[in-house]
Amino acid sequence: MADTLFISDLHLSEKRSGTLKLFFRFLAEQAAKTEELYILGDLFDVWIGDDNETPPIPDILDAMKRISDSGTQLYFMGGNRDFLVGKRFAEATGAKLLGDTRVLDLEGSLTLLTHGDLLCTDDVEYQNARKLLRNPAIIGDFLTKSIPERLALAEEFREHSGEATSLKAADIMDVNQQTVERFMRETGVTRLIHGHTHRPATHDFTLDGQAVQRFVLPEWHDDRGGFLRASADGLVLENFS
Ligand code: MN
Repeated sequence: MADTLFISDLHLSEKRSGTLKLFFRFLAEQAAKTEELYILGDLFDVWIGDDNETPPIPDILDAMKRISDSGTQLYFMGGNRDFLVGKRFAEATGAKLLGDTRVLDLEGSLTLLTHGDLLCTDDVEYQNARKLLRNPAIIGDFLTKSIPERLALAEEFREHSGEATSLKAADIMDVNQQTVERFMRETGVTRLIHGHTHRPATHDFTLDGQAVQRFVLPEWHDDRGGFLRASADGLVLENFS
């Protein structure tokens, strides 16, 4: 089986030119050589709708499309910052859109993929804000507003929602272990891959007498990033700079 790569939490924006360059290099040097790349949310620092074509968005979409056209299947799962990514994005990039969770058979082991914010249930204020933000009526109303209005609202909401505005792990709540176990039990997996918490690690633990693993993807910042590679040799976190 060919390698599968997983990334998340790049927080791409016009303000992060170093990370943007690193992402373009990653696509050309790593993603182009693999069959599948899963992007597990917060690729963008904010996504206010597929109709926003403010730079550097067109360049990012074009770079992703080139990788898709070269034969790498891209998958995209929304994070808390970019859950409004939709069909038009999928068409522009060739990426298949995933819901909040996905179970994958990786080298014979069932593996749960999720962005990670759903696992942070100790942060009650954030979970309430998350529910409100996913309300279809609220989303519909938001998308009818102008792009400057949407940018201002997104900023305002973030400030008042309890959502971390910083990228430091210390400012983001960690996962709740019981919630992790519940998600893994309910989906019948032995492995979990997520991002969001900016605490890259491989956690080995026992669930109902079975050895299981939780892989946390790194955030990208300036000229440093990383990814998880799944191959016949197993799952390994790799740095990229
Ligand atoms: Mn996140």
